[in-house]
Amino acid sequence: MSSEKEAALATVPNDSPTIFDKIIKKEIPCTVVYEDEKALPFRDINPQAPTHILIIPKVKDGLTGLSKAEERHVEIPGYLLYVAKVVAKQEGLEDGYRVVTNDGPSGCQSVYHIHVHLLGGRQMNWPPG
Ligand code: 5GP
Repeated sequence: MSSEKEAALATVPNDSPTIFDKIIKKEIPCTVVYEDEKALPFRDINPQAPTHILIIPKVKDGLTGLSKAEERHVEIPGYLLYVAKVVAKQEGLEDGYRVVTNDGPSGCQSVYHIHVHLLGGRQMNWPPG
């Protein structure tokens, strides 16, 4: 089993602070590739493609994952997708890329702070694993 899948299955969905809160507070290092007042994109520590960037909201407001979205959250997923497009251009992914949101244990989510993965720099496959 992949370590990512193991981590996802070992994590109980919850609304506690995550490693991403420490990243936002700059308490642990990461490679930030862009930043604005609402979103923080940084390189994934365990990249699954030559370019693998996580895009997170700085304020999650209880939005641990997409399945927890309520009407007050509607701007957050859209903004994360917009930033994914901005960062993809910055990263030179002219030929295309993939944006993924994992949700819950079966979706292989391991960090309960909503985020999108921006993956590129290689040919993607379909169906995904
Ligand atoms: P998920 O599995 O929840 O969709 O994605 C979480 C991602 O966070 C994983 O791809 C994992 O590699 C990444 N990740 C976990 N901890 C850290 C960390 O401390 N720093 C960085 N840069 N990425 C992390």
